[in-house]
Amino acid sequence: MTMFNRRDALMAITAGGAAVTTAAQAADPPQPSRGPGFGGTDPGPRNIPLDTAQPSLLNPPSTDSGTIPNLRFSFSDTPMKQYTGGWTRQVTARELGISKSIAGVNMRLNAGGIRELHWHKQAEWAFMLYGTARISAVDEQGHNFVDDVGPGDLWYFPAGIPHSIQGLAADGCEFLLVFDDGEFDEDSTFLLSDWFKHIPPDVLVKNFGVGAENFRNLPDPSTRYIFPAPLPGGLDSDRIAGATPVPRIFSHHMTAQAPIASRGGKVWITDSSVFPISQSIAAALVEIEPGGMRELHWHPNTDEWQYWISGKGRMGVFASHGQSRTFDFSAGDVGYVPFAMGHYVENTGDTPLRFLEMFKSSYYADVSLEQWLALTPPELVQAHLGFSDAAMQSLRKTKTPVVP
Ligand code: MN
Ligand code: MN
Repeated sequence: MTMFNRRDALMAITAGGAAVTTAAQAADPPQPSRGPGFGGTDPGPRNIPLDTAQPSLLNPPSTDSGTIPNLRFSFSDTPMKQYTGGWTRQVTARELGISKSIAGVNMRLNAGGIRELHWHKQAEWAFMLYGTARISAVDEQGHNFVDDVGPGDLWYFPAGIPHSIQGLAADGCEFLLVFDDGEFDEDSTFLLSDWFKHIPPDVLVKNFGVGAENFRNLPDPSTRYIFPAPLPGGLDSDRIAGATPVPRIFSHHMTAQAPIASRGGKVWITDSSVFPISQSIAAALVEIEPGGMRELHWHPNTDEWQYWISGKGRMGVFASHGQSRTFDFSAGDVGYVPFAMGHYVENTGDTPLRFLEMFKSSYYADVSLEQWLALTPPELVQAHLGFSDAAMQSLRKTKTPVVP
């Protein structure tokens, strides 16, 4: 349909009495009008699937105001880099400009597929989304590490520590990688095959003390990075005889922890208090039942970087100085909350909502608006907000991260 024809069709719908401007959210297609006397129809050009997916942009709540920068980016808006053993894509400060403290990578390894032995300048924190993987590392003191991880498990490799990841049976794995630097780039890691290709052969002979013939079949680095390989044997078969394990283990079973549970949902918090090696990333996995909400709060230590795993939600962010903005999220999105800004997250779907909150910090911390008010002299709060005595008494003194 040409634009002209589509416009005619829209006008015909309007003339025919369809409630285009009075029930914007229910109209098909949705129109930028939150009610009579606000906004109007959008005759186009327009992208209806995007407008439909972002109702809080098309029809922001009347409490939104000001010019808060963009705080959402979808992995679906990034290029998939496909290799022989899987794929990878990333959301960094180049995609989501405000995200200076953290970058994320979403990676898939087919069964047997290996993310090449490598290291990088940033620490790497990971959350397993699907399947199983074998991870390995060696630290600067010659301690070694090898483990198998599955859904809900984490790993953490400190900056500069060399490591590998391999997808296991039956269908490999998918995971989220989080780096403690928004400028991180998956294409600038230190790769084993890349370095070998750039060392003179006589230096290799001298270093390893073996004949030059050993280095005649080095791979083209472009064939590694993520490449297929036979499945490894059991975990025991990959243990190195005589090796000393790392003193602080690099993996952690996040969802095996006891969550903070309430009627509205659950929160699992993992920071260096329970996963000691994770010195630069703290995390919370949040599960919100339909109708529930991650309560009004903020974080007193640093920015929040989110990864949306399943379900649908809406986040409102308050930036001080009268500024406030609302965003809609779904699976595969990245969200961001700059340091200290007040926010909440509602489940707007009919299935449980799951997302990760991540912080470039050794510890997790949040301040609850309700707990603050409940533990402040009541007369003081009432002088600000005009709450009744009954409302004051109902304020919860115990923090409730997810409210029904
Ligand atoms: Mn890595
Ligand atoms: Mn938060």
